[in-house]
Formats: sequence, structure tokens, C-alpha cells
Amino acid sequence: MATADTFEELKKLQEILVEKYQLDAKVEEAPKQLSAQEELLARMKKEFIEKNTEYEAVKERVSKLKFDLDEAVRARENGEKGMDNITTHREYEALEKQILEATDRENDIRKDLQKEEKILEDIKETLKINEEMINSQESELTESRNSLNEELKQYHEHLDELTAKENEIIPSLDKEILFKFRRIIQRNSEGIVAVKNGVCTGCHMILPAQFANTVREGDSILFCPYCSRILFYEESEDEDEDMYFRMDDAGSLADLSDEFDEDEYDSEDEEKEDSFYDDENESYDDEDSDSEDEDDDSDDEDEEDLSDEDELN
Ligand SMILES: [Zn+2]
Repeated sequence: MATADTFEELKKLQEILVEKYQLDAKVEEAPKQLSAQEELLARMKKEFIEKNTEYEAVKERVSKLKFDLDEAVRARENGEKGMDNITTHREYEALEKQILEATDRENDIRKDLQKEEKILEDIKETLKINEEMINSQESELTESRNSLNEELKQYHEHLDELTAKENEIIPSLDKEILFKFRRIIQRNSEGIVAVKNGVCTGCHMILPAQFANTVREGDSILFCPYCSRILFYEESEDEDEDMYFRMDDAGSLADLSDEFDEDEYDSEDEEKEDSFYDDENESYDDEDSDSEDEDDDSDDEDEEDLSDEDELN
């Protein structure tokens, strides 16, 4: 297969692969949509269980209080009945004491019981609300799961289509090139880029002149030595314009420096303007150094790519 055709096939394949890898990432990410809902449901259930344990404890206290109350009531009633049969003042006093104590106890227990029953009622209400919330959260989650499955089904259908297209292209391509190509696209989303004005448009590094020439000849598949992308040559449309621009630029810079010289000697007011220009120049420099930093970063990545590329070989 001629190299030019190979480039075309690789470009087509690149489109397919980029889409495929994006879909793969979506398939992997999709189930995480549910994790927030699942966590919420788990927390609700945990709270329900804790509340229910509390409910059981209060319920037990209530039944104990009811039992105690029955006892106190019985003691008071027995005392009251006993009043009919007393014969001595001493018996009367003892019985009266028993009745008073039982009445006090009865009143205390009734108060406690009322309090606990109120608590029990509140917890019961909370449990009912919690249960309703759990049920609705569960059905929401089921709904989300269903739509997630639908989403995944569509992703997979789309992936199958892409794989079919991919399979039409790959038999004509060299296996090793294909292997490298996939790896670059997985990481950088672009595996084949143009060389313009001797610069790799993938990593913006200036290529060695001899190497750029070999790319221009287009007889073989070449990889960028900095970012490992496959390179093809592309005629730069604005090469001439660039040249004119640079000449204009040089002229205007020279004019500007003349003006500055005059200003410096002419007046104080204009000197202030000068310092304004200086400030501007400074900030311009800053921006410049920032962009250099960015370039450094991308160089780092590129070096990493390159070392991986070495591993491959
Ligand atoms: Zn490059």
C-alpha cells in the first residue's frame, strides 16, 4: 500500500479509535452515577436500623413501666380495700402510709410512662417516614439502574458499529504501526499529525531538518522523535505571508526604538509613558515565560512518551 493511502487509512482509523476510547471511558464511568444514590440508600437503611433499635429499647421501657404501674395501682387499691377492715389506729397509720406511697409511685410512673410513650410515638413516626423515604429511594435507584442499562446498551451498540468499521481498515495496516498508533491515541487522542514548516503540529517541537525532509518525501511511516505521533507532510499555506510579517515586524520594532530614544530626552511626561511601556513589556515577558513553562510541561510528557516508545522497540 502506498504511504499516502496508509496516511488516509490511519486518519480514518484515528477518528474511529478516538470515538471508541471516549465510549470506553463512558462505559467505565457510567456506573459511578449510581454510587451517590447507593450511598444515600445505604445510609438511610443504617439510620433506620439504629432508629429501630432505639424503638425496641423504648418499647421495653414502656412495657416495664406499665407493669410497675399495675403493681402500684394494685398496692393502692389493696390499701384502700384494707381500710374497711382495720381495727387499730396503728393499722390505720400503716395502711395510710402504704396508700400514700403507692399513690406517689403511681403518679411518678404515670408521668414517666407518658413521657416514654410520647418518645415511642415520635420514633414510630420517624420510622414510618424513613421507611417511605427508603422505598422511594429504592424505586428511584431501580429507575436509574434501568436507564443506566439502556445507556450502556446504546454505548455497546455504538462500540460494535465502530469495531466493525475498525475491522474494515486494520487488515491493510502493519501490525506494529497499529499497535503504536493505538497507544498514542489512547494517551494523546491524536496519533497522526502534520509536519508544517519543519514543526510537529502534535508537540510543536522543531524537527531535525534532515528528518523533516524524509517526512516530506513520504516514502515511509515515521514517528515524531519527541511525541511518538505518526507524521505526514503538509505544505504550509502561509509560509510566504509569514516571511512578510516578520519583515514588517522588524521594521516597526526599529521605528519604535527610535521613538523611545527621543522620548527619553524630550520630556518628563513622556518618560512616564515610557515606564508604562516598560510595564507592559514586563507583563508581556511574564506571559512569555509562562508559556515557556507550559512548553516544558508538554516536553516532559513527550519525553515520557518517547521512553515508552523505546520500551516498545
Ligand atoms: Zn511531535
